[in-house]
Amino acid sequence: MNDNPYRQIPSVAKLLVHPALAAVQQRVPVSLLTESIRAELDAARVAMADFNLDDLLTRIARRATDAQRLRYCPVINATGIVLHTNLGRAPMAESAAQAAYNAARGYLALELDLATGERSSRQNPIRAAVARLTGADSATVVNNCAAATVIALRTLAAGKEVIVSRGQLIEIGGSFRIPEIMTVSGATLREVGTTNITRLRDYEAAIGPNTAALMRVHCSNYRVRGFTESVSIEDLATLGAKHGIPVIDDVGSGSVFAFESEPTIAAGIAAGADLTLFSGDKLFGGPQCGIIAGRQKWIEAIERNPFMRAVRCDKMTLAALEATLALYRDQPLDSIPTLRMLALPLAELRRRSETFAERLRSLPGVTVEVRDDESFAGGGSLPDQAFPTVVIAVCVEGMAESLLATRLRTGTPAVMARIKEGLVCFDLRTVFVEQQDELFAATKSAIE
Ligand SMILES: *Cc1c(COP(=O)(O)O)cnc(C)c1O
Repeated sequence: MNDNPYRQIPSVAKLLVHPALAAVQQRVPVSLLTESIRAELDAARVAMADFNLDDLLTRIARRATDAQRLRYCPVINATGIVLHTNLGRAPMAESAAQAAYNAARGYLALELDLATGERSSRQNPIRAAVARLTGADSATVVNNCAAATVIALRTLAAGKEVIVSRGQLIEIGGSFRIPEIMTVSGATLREVGTTNITRLRDYEAAIGPNTAALMRVHCSNYRVRGFTESVSIEDLATLGAKHGIPVIDDVGSGSVFAFESEPTIAAGIAAGADLTLFSGDKLFGGPQCGIIAGRQKWIEAIERNPFMRAVRCDKMTLAALEATLALYRDQPLDSIPTLRMLALPLAELRRRSETFAERLRSLPGVTVEVRDDESFAGGGSLPDQAFPTVVIAVCVEGMAESLLATRLRTGTPAVMARIKEGLVCFDLRTVFVEQQDELFAATKSAIE
């Protein structure tokens, strides 16, 4: 150690062809490997006293392999939360995923009428299907429900007032807050009523020459309880019709079926809402998009708005949406994963959980218990409706639950579990049957 101590650290050039990294050199592009080597060399120079070549090589191999991994990797969702926003919300039906895949890989009749050879609107294939499903005259689709809200407000109410109840000034999370959405739309929010009580006459008193729309926003992620009153969409639509003012109904998740307290999409349209807006990837169970269903004249106005171009959907989304809409014609409860998972009978979930728990018990040091628990739908739907579920609580001897959870999350495939009362819990409601073997293997490797 008389020499310059940095001498023992090999150069980037030497490491790039080091035989101990042969496997990595084959798999990882040179640029990525060089970056990984540089990063590890920097770290090694800082911790000079502990330098060890084998350690360095191991760390380079690990870093390069990790750097090459795609970050949008699949995750087994064992949280039981069906619409988990951080995990991509609704998993799509097989046929919808296939449609997106086919659209992605090749050419398709996106804006082309094959019968005439003429150019057509990319909205046409979904328009009729949404209309049929919701009872609306017409429909159009944009990137998500936030975009649907912005373009509807911009088209109907830019420079004018939109009346909204103070009880419905929601924040969805991220940056969707009604007052701010109103501002970016160029419309002026006219608040009426109070947090807990808004009556029809509050809306009526606020109507003036500058009123462009009445808007109802579904309180999708909270409830106002106790001494409360709000105006039904029927009454709001009647009031709008009386004054010739359109009514916009942002139902957020919305649901095709009567589902607990979620508003059904068709009900608002039947009640006379001029435009109903809902997300494609919440309870609807399709791709991320925002569906606008309503009167033809407003749909046409929205499609003519130059802003439409900024929020239109891509070919994969439209293909997946068309396939999802097709499933709604026949047996949607069996074919749409979101609906199937939410409707999974407790007895069946318990049976699956017991069988899976028995497998886990074969692992060394593992204690397993099947318990009753509660879950939520997630994704801004049914906020206060905990529904009964069954979980498998897993305890590994000598391993803290946080370590087990971390190992599961960082394994391959990644597993997101729920932690409750110091135990890692698997809720198989959101684990596809065909993923169970993978979940077992992932658990096995996490405890080794
Ligand atoms: C979720 C939600 C939105 C936003 O929908 P995205 O599809 O996530 O953009 C808007 N309004 C309501 C009422 C919602 O619940």
